Amino acid sequence: MAVAVADALERLDALVVEAGTGTGKTFAYLVPALLSGRRIIVSTGTRNLQDQLYHRDLPVVSQALGRPVQVALLKGRANYLCRHRLALASSMPHLPGLEAASGTKLATIEAWSQLTVTGDIGECEAVADSDPVWMAVTSTRENCLGVECPEYQGCHVASARRHAQASDIVIVNHHLLLADMALREEGFGELLPGAEAVILDEAHQFPDIAAQFFGVRVGSRGVLNLTRDTLFELTRAGLLDASTRALVEAIESAVALISRALYGLAERVDWNQLPDIVLEGAADLSQALLDLIARLDNPALEEVAVKQCVRRAQEFTTRLQAVLEADDASGFRWAECGARGFSLEYTPFEVADRLRAQMDARPCAWVYTSATLAVDQDFSHFTDRVGASTARTLQVASPFDYQTQALLFTPRTLPEPADPQYTAAMIRAALPLVRAAGGRSFILFTSHRALSEGARYLKSVLTSQDTFPVLVQGDVPRDALLRRFRELGNAVLMGTSSFWEGVDVRGPALSLVVIDKLPFAPPDDPILRARLEGFKRDGRNPFMAYQVPQAILALKQGVGRLIRDSDDFGVVMLGDPRLHTRGYGRSFLKSLPPMTQTEDSAVAEAFLSDHIAGLAKTAQGSAA
Ligand code: SF4
Repeated sequence: MAVAVADALERLDALVVEAGTGTGKTFAYLVPALLSGRRIIVSTGTRNLQDQLYHRDLPVVSQALGRPVQVALLKGRANYLCRHRLALASSMPHLPGLEAASGTKLATIEAWSQLTVTGDIGECEAVADSDPVWMAVTSTRENCLGVECPEYQGCHVASARRHAQASDIVIVNHHLLLADMALREEGFGELLPGAEAVILDEAHQFPDIAAQFFGVRVGSRGVLNLTRDTLFELTRAGLLDASTRALVEAIESAVALISRALYGLAERVDWNQLPDIVLEGAADLSQALLDLIARLDNPALEEVAVKQCVRRAQEFTTRLQAVLEADDASGFRWAECGARGFSLEYTPFEVADRLRAQMDARPCAWVYTSATLAVDQDFSHFTDRVGASTARTLQVASPFDYQTQALLFTPRTLPEPADPQYTAAMIRAALPLVRAAGGRSFILFTSHRALSEGARYLKSVLTSQDTFPVLVQGDVPRDALLRRFRELGNAVLMGTSSFWEGVDVRGPALSLVVIDKLPFAPPDDPILRARLEGFKRDGRNPFMAYQVPQAILALKQGVGRLIRDSDDFGVVMLGDPRLHTRGYGRSFLKSLPPMTQTEDSAVAEAFLSDHIAGLAKTAQGSAA
């Protein structure tokens, strides 16, 4: 992999590498990256990997190679203190929109602001990242005054960008990279024009994030932030009169009307199924924004911050119009509603052309890597989605001895997954294995409903002999649950999709992974339905062209939780009988690591009991 990456960096080519668990893929791209001397952006899917690269892997590789490099870790602007908004909040805490900025917290932030060099809010440990006070003292792309800001010289966002532009290696996440690509700058200036290579780790997440990014979205929170900021800035400038206030309130009423109309509907609603009143509310919102713009868009107006609010209102109007008038042949529209508000969205079916255009725009190497990119040995599902169909591809197998270390148990005896008895039957089939492993299991579900049913059923059939603790997702926060699982060493953890990826439990604490069903995305999701329509329109079979490959990649992620080290061992149980009864079952099996396979529960139980007995013996030996 390192040689292939070095080659791609040398020739400024595109490369797609699937590197199995344990290959050391991070070092396999960092070593050639550092040796190349090129300016490189490394983009990750998760914050964890960003931190790991910056604090651990890059310093190690740089020291081992004797190549000091300047590295920057760049985050989205919501992670940096905005000195301008802090000054406003401190001087006028009673203005509209600053209610969240409670006195004590603000004083803590002010004291920290005198000391911080980076302005990264993660440093201010006394105030949690999630505290709403940060909304008042961080900026958004919309409310930032940019070069017109009185604090521009000491601006932390601008300084982080400048530092990144002067660095050899910049670590970002996929959202920030896409913001750069879509020219929706999240800070100041662009990163891509200065880069000679972009390396995307956890690249399997990239196509979905890209589809969101190249779409259009109007969110109620953004609009309400705008009305809040407008009232704030007008009050501050002494320009707020009753009729202008009424115009701002008309925007808020339109948002409230849409919220009420969406209340109680599904989380995502297909555009064609929206009640008429939502579309009427959207038209009202558009008109109310235009009325406010007409009132405030006065060339004689000197207030920079108010002009900024007008620009934001104009942008919302443009986006709303784009959603309302979008072409359904090229994308899909829907409304998303939740506890934190709603959004009206348009997402294009395909983003490959736009990503391709970015790749062609300038000489630059593009390296995509992840542990799960290929279906069987075919990369086209991934490369087609990211516009990299001509890229060189490489599959590097895991160095682990799956034949010996792992066993795949695929019983034929369970009912069809649609059967109401399925979850209970699956738990009954898994229980002897859980007992043989002495707990030490993940039981992963494809839906929250199945998780609660499974957890209820398991607890109802346990006996006093079953001494292993059962941890259920939702009982405590995810990280705390994982910590407990590791500490206990003999627990059973029951969870959904958030435990399928990015979870690394080494050693015997995790010896059995049970997956309830093949992870096909829920068919009632309007985004999925619309995407499938797009495939049909192109004359392709959406099930085989999209749903099966997506489910295979998701299953590979889930199965990948088991063997994380050369000493690990264990059993993967896939209860879904469709592996045997449907033609596509073979594609799933062929895409998994080369584990020994059995349909006999007794063989799987013996595998686990033997290994657990071996552990006990080794422990006794060391104690003696
Ligand atoms: S330039 Fe923008 S982010 Fe920086 S201090 Fe001013 S308003 Fe805040």
